[in-house]
Amino acid sequence: MRLLITSGPTRQYLDPVRYLTNASSGKMGSALATSALDAGHQVTIVTGPVNVEYPAGASVINVLTTQDMLATVQNLFPSHDGLIGAAAPCDYMPQAIRTEKISKDGQPFHLQLIETPDVVASVAASKRADQWVVGFALETEDRRFRAIVKMQKKCCDMMVSNGPGAIDSDHNSIEILAADGTTLAHVEGTKQRVADSILHWIQSHLIDRKVEKAQ
Ligand code: C5P
Repeated sequence: MRLLITSGPTRQYLDPVRYLTNASSGKMGSALATSALDAGHQVTIVTGPVNVEYPAGASVINVLTTQDMLATVQNLFPSHDGLIGAAAPCDYMPQAIRTEKISKDGQPFHLQLIETPDVVASVAASKRADQWVVGFALETEDRRFRAIVKMQKKCCDMMVSNGPGAIDSDHNSIEILAADGTTLAHVEGTKQRVADSILHWIQSHLIDRKVEKAQ
């Protein structure tokens, strides 16, 4: 199977030197890529700027902004079987980007922000019947409920719920949710162990089932 993985943060520039971003190391995306390669899949990673090393067997495409990530994923998804949205794309961007560096003038600086497009939701809305999309939800409150709402809103086939403890850590504690809202598994441990479990559930719940249906 050909798997597409989004990973890392994106940047939304205010001017040529300043940007908004999200806290994301790319470690979860890298661990997922390793698990997917170990399981025999071909892997393409679309990543924002990170310091993490991606496995050598994956093809890696670097992007900067959420719009870049969306355009790249939209272009690549038709030639892939599934998408794992492990990135933390920046959700807001300035209404206007200044072409020159903003100078300080001692006054409060008001920034008007608008939402960026949602990569996973945009791609999942037009997925083919033989394709699947797995999203991630990082929540501080009502984790399961909010993850289920996001899964439905973003047309995902499976959702991985995690908390703020995941940020920049080598460990994670997750709940894997099926499309009907049932819990498939709780997993805690290194991001590699968690990623192996996510790939296991993708295989049994999404890949094998779609193959069975097609036969
Ligand atoms: O930011 P949020 O919690 O809504 O993210 C949930 C899922 O949607 C994640 O899989 C994330 O990668 C994806 N997402 C996205 N594009 C955005 C925001 C989030 O693909 N602009």
